[in-house]
Amino acid sequence: MLETAVVVKVTEGLHARPATQFAKLAKEFSCSLLVLHGSTSADAKSAVKLMLLGIREHDQIVLRADGADESDAVARMAQFLSSPEAGVQPASAAHAADAAACGGDTDAPDASSRTGAGNGADGDRSGAPADETPPLIGIPASEGVAFGDAFVYLPEPLRAARQFIGPHETATEAMRFDRALDDALAALDSQFDRMGDHDGIAEALVSVARSDEFAGEIRTRIAAGRDATAATLEVGAALAASFESIDDEYLRSRADDIHGITRQVALRLNGQQDASLAGIAKPCVVLASDLTAPDLARANVANIAALVCTRGSATSHLAIIARSHGIPAVFGLAVPDSRLRGVAQVAVDGTLGHVWFEPTRALQERFAARIDEARAHRAALDVYRDVGPVTRAGRPVRIAANLGSPDEIEAAKAVGAMGVGLFRTELLFMNRRSLPGEHEQYSVYRRVAEAFAPHPVVIRTLDIGGDKPVPGIAFAREDNPFLGWRGVRMCLDRPDVFKPQLRALLRAASAGNVQAMLPMIADVDEVRRVKALMAECARELAGEGIPFGAPKLGIMIETPAAALTADMLAPEVDFFSIGTNDLTQYVMAADRANPKLAPLYRCDHPAVLRAIAMVCDAARQAGIEVAVCGEAAAQPRMIPLLVGLGVDELSMSPACVLRAKKIVSEL
Ligand code: PEP
Ligand code: MG
Repeated sequence: MLETAVVVKVTEGLHARPATQFAKLAKEFSCSLLVLHGSTSADAKSAVKLMLLGIREHDQIVLRADGADESDAVARMAQFLSSPEAGVQPASAAHAADAAACGGDTDAPDASSRTGAGNGADGDRSGAPADETPPLIGIPASEGVAFGDAFVYLPEPLRAARQFIGPHETATEAMRFDRALDDALAALDSQFDRMGDHDGIAEALVSVARSDEFAGEIRTRIAAGRDATAATLEVGAALAASFESIDDEYLRSRADDIHGITRQVALRLNGQQDASLAGIAKPCVVLASDLTAPDLARANVANIAALVCTRGSATSHLAIIARSHGIPAVFGLAVPDSRLRGVAQVAVDGTLGHVWFEPTRALQERFAARIDEARAHRAALDVYRDVGPVTRAGRPVRIAANLGSPDEIEAAKAVGAMGVGLFRTELLFMNRRSLPGEHEQYSVYRRVAEAFAPHPVVIRTLDIGGDKPVPGIAFAREDNPFLGWRGVRMCLDRPDVFKPQLRALLRAASAGNVQAMLPMIADVDEVRRVKALMAECARELAGEGIPFGAPKLGIMIETPAAALTADMLAPEVDFFSIGTNDLTQYVMAADRANPKLAPLYRCDHPAVLRAIAMVCDAARQAGIEVAVCGEAAAQPRMIPLLVGLGVDELSMSPACVLRAKKIVSEL
């Protein structure tokens, strides 16, 4: 028997992919191989058991081998664990991955459709239609009105029709399970293929699904007389619970994969199918508990007349995407999910946050009239497309667009957006299986810059935290992720993630009017450290003979610390952009995602307005420009206040650009 202690150098530890590769390597040896980690141990040939050990980078483990080839085995396994890259293919392989992070159709919803109308053009209206049925109330998340057939997007409840089977059924039941598993894994494989899975995530998932701990245990239970669906649901739930108890955020989130595989296998065993937004064939109002950006990316947005969710908030990314497509939306609707099932027709007022299930004929007629009115109003706004608005006092104000993906370029150009005041890069990192490389980012930033030249395009560096984990960045569990290791804080600690983005930005700046913007700044030192890193990237690029430019550097003012020290920050940067979504939540100490706090979460609260005024004063004194890129920039009641306080640029969802141009022109 041979034992060796090893310090694990594998980046982010033995998570799904490295564990799968490690187990594969272990199986090449005939000796028994055990991994000891603290007081726990696991067979090195089982990827699932290895994952459940929760081994992190820098942990010390012991390898114990027993058998003829033990010394060879220990040497190879130790070598594997000492390599940071182990189990993950070189990043270069991921460069070719599809850049379409945020997917989705760029078509605005069909404005000529009775069931798909509304894009904020009637946002000034007040008062819900006075119908005899009072509306259900939610959070107004995206302006506009719509009515139409409901498309209920809730997971089908899954249950086993029976618990036990007879002894004569075990063989066919086991075959049924094998077929369902093969089928589910084949579907998973082609889905990953379409997404460009260059780093072997699918392989890791397949190895978990086929492991003794999942498929093996299910087969054992079937042989003992358990129904296949019942066995699948039980084993899946138990295995997912084991992952959920691991003290590592990334491995814990593998529980979602187990739930996913379990569900897909059980659906097939039961002959059931989950609803998919891809299957919506005509404009409908989608009713859901919650949706993710990838859910929406699968749909043809032209067929989504409106969105109604029982969860979510007005500043969630889903709300931002809905606004950019002009889809009316109401979130946080106070009804149980079960109430959504069986609804046939829905009327939605996204401006007021009102929803009616099964609207009366009278209400439908009123909605039809409002939709026509909104369409006419929108058509009238078209004259502002090529207008660079100037207030009556002669002050020009730039109206720019907020984008989350190059797919939205056309919509923004169609309304005459004067550049991009905020390009959110996190969608590029989120809706995928591996981090985007420098070249892929460069191509995206350059494409946006070229589309809007000579107008400025402000690229915000990665603004992500533990509330929105990204594959390839291990976020530890935090009690307060919004006050945690996020945005520029995380980036400064992870130059391997940050430098490729800065290099991509510098390179794109040679192709257009690209500007860089840092989120979540709270201290002058953070700005200085980013500037030093940018200078380092510029030196590297120069050394490599790669062309690059000198982008202007700005910061988001979204923490109270930044607002209170705006005068100290101003000399360090070329511009400010006020992120009223976060500034409001931090100034008011009111979570922007909590529907219960909506009455307190107000960007027009005197505390927030005073903070904005301080920032504008500091910018004026330092002679730099100040923009607003939070949702307040598009609100008709906020625009006069912001312009009055001295804001030079308002940046918003493309759907709101024309209205903002009109409002500013009339001030
Ligand atoms: C903001 O906080 O106002 C902002 C624009 O950033 P995000 O909504 O992406 O947090
Ligand atoms: Mg923000």
